[in-house]
Amino acid sequence: MKALSINPYNNEVVFENDVLNDNEIESALESSSKAFSFYKAEFSEKRARLLKSVADVLRKNKTSYAKTISLEMGKIFKDSLAEVEKCASLFDFYSENISVFLQDVNIKTEFKVSKIVYNPLGVVLAVMPWNFPFWQVIRAAAPIIGGGNCLMLKHASNVSECAKTIENIFIEAGFPENIFKTVIVNSSKVSNIISDKRIAAVTFTGSTDVGRKIAEAAGKILKKSVLELGGNDPYMVFEDADIDKAADICAKSRLINVGQSCISAKRFIVNQNIYDEFLGKFSSIIKSKKYGDQFDDSNDLGPLVSVKARDDINNIVSDFVKNGANKVYGKEITDKSSALFEPTILEIPEHIKVEEIEVFGPVALVYKAKSDEDAVRIANTSKFGLGSAIFSKDTEKAIRTAEKYVDSGSVFINDLVRSDARLPFGGIKESGYGRELSDLGVKEFQNIKTLVCA
Ligand code: NAP
Repeated sequence: MKALSINPYNNEVVFENDVLNDNEIESALESSSKAFSFYKAEFSEKRARLLKSVADVLRKNKTSYAKTISLEMGKIFKDSLAEVEKCASLFDFYSENISVFLQDVNIKTEFKVSKIVYNPLGVVLAVMPWNFPFWQVIRAAAPIIGGGNCLMLKHASNVSECAKTIENIFIEAGFPENIFKTVIVNSSKVSNIISDKRIAAVTFTGSTDVGRKIAEAAGKILKKSVLELGGNDPYMVFEDADIDKAADICAKSRLINVGQSCISAKRFIVNQNIYDEFLGKFSSIIKSKKYGDQFDDSNDLGPLVSVKARDDINNIVSDFVKNGANKVYGKEITDKSSALFEPTILEIPEHIKVEEIEVFGPVALVYKAKSDEDAVRIANTSKFGLGSAIFSKDTEKAIRTAEKYVDSGSVFINDLVRSDARLPFGGIKESGYGRELSDLGVKEFQNIKTLVCA
């Protein structure tokens, strides 16, 4: 069986990769487990040097890696380059900090020795999505492998070439084989791999529905899991916001990766007193964007990931309109030979329940709030809780509101939600649990061992 990668701009098959059979999966588990048995003893200084070397390889070959990303899932080429560069910076960060994050912590007690030491857990299975096919994997891999674990990657089936390429990057950087191992497998095999004794833990990034299945498989045998799931991020525009700035940042965030980002702004909840002005400015920015071939530098946006994904979003938009949403902008495209989609703006009356659905494409859902407090109330109605943003010139009030009243894993004020190596990243409610990045991302996959000597 083959995993096919299809360029969504023209529907052409660009890569074909063999899917592993059961014997090959068994052999991959065995090799990873053996690799861990010696890698766990490696000094963190050596691991740090290897991480730095991965950053160098990424920078050296960034054009070729970016081309693979754009071909497989349609990302605009300059954004693919930026994705590879961001991955390199993440390795720089962990190379500089891993030893500090994993230093023993002495705790003063009556004992001769009482301290925390950190030990890696083992082979961590990473099940990853296609939308940032390098970044999502690297965001998990750098802290997991930097912390002395091995990682086995099951990537999304449409980006198998990226998956293989990332494994080769680790080898080229000097890591022994099987510390980072790609397995191209059907998703029906994942539960069995999770339950295998040689897998110590699982990290999953993807949709909430699949996250539930991963958690169930891990929970059955009490295996550690971290889940980074879907979002429906609200951007609240308060009455005193700088409207030009808010409109610009909101449009930018909604269009990240043609709207196929867990943390791109999805709902815009605007105080009624500035609603018309905001909507006018926001719409004119969205309308100015050019979309088309991801390799044409004059385009701002490439296609969606597949014709199916585009048709699914067309259907969601039609349902919203049928139920009373007002389409401000966006025409339906149904051409079967390409996954292009025109950015769309919908005004949403409160009776339409959009907060339970994640629209994974460039569809802006705009709400009118009676007041700033009402905007926060509407924001919190969602079952998701990944990121959120507030726009206000009164930053003290905005910080107070963010701290006490907004239900999400992160709140950005007067800026767009983004991931940053220095800051923890993750969600609450049905957006998942656990944290990636920063020191917390490393410690998720460590045995935080208490050591006492009387
Ligand atoms: P997805 O359909 O959930 O797939 C994610 C991964 O799970 C893929 O590797 C997929 O493999 C695998 N998978 C699918 N069904 C499975 C099953 N029954 N058992 C085990 N594994 C299974 O998500 P996606 O469409 O790739 O990505 C989009 C979603 O990811 C969005 O919801 C987005 O918000 C979320 N996301 C979240 C974050 C975050 O940090 N919170 C970041 C990025 C994306 P196959 O391709 O082989 O099906």
